[in-house]
Amino acid sequence: MKTAVYPGSFDPITLGHLNIIKRTARIFDKVYVCVMKNSDKNPLFTREERVELIQRIVKHLDNVEVETADGLLVEYAKSKGARVVVKGLRAVSDFDWEFQMALANRKIDPAIDTLFMAASEKYTFLSSTVVKEMAKYNADLRDFVPREIIDDIVKKMESKR
Ligand code: ADP
Repeated sequence: MKTAVYPGSFDPITLGHLNIIKRTARIFDKVYVCVMKNSDKNPLFTREERVELIQRIVKHLDNVEVETADGLLVEYAKSKGARVVVKGLRAVSDFDWEFQMALANRKIDPAIDTLFMAASEKYTFLSSTVVKEMAKYNADLRDFVPREIIDDIVKKMESKR
């Protein structure tokens, strides 16, 4: 069985992330979307909330599971029997950091490969940070995130005001 891990902070999940998840799910037998510990000290959603939001969106994708992990990504991948970590690339600016991480991960465990997937041109501008910035000013979020989670973002933003 071919298994992949798609890691990220997903604070919150965007249509760009969802596009990568769907395409990855078409290539692999099993995909684990893994909500990693956020380097952002002040995230909008807790990790448990982020897991729940993603689960709600991918529930119709039979071969996708959503989990959370501390620790090293390669350890998590190994524990799932995954040999591939998928990363989305939006622009050259993503490349430097992602390439460095891919090499570092390979150093730790040469059995795990990183696969870069080109972002859909529709979503190259999109990041969780952009979504949070737009939500702050009550912008229409329908072009940015799946509709099922718009209310959650609006409510969360209000609770933080
Ligand atoms: P961000 O806060 O930049 O959205 P994440 O850590 O949540 O970052 O992203 C997880 C993964 O998804 C990374 O591999 C990232 O490059 C990728 N990604 C983020 N946004 C998009 C997008 N709009 N299209 C494709 N891939 C994306």
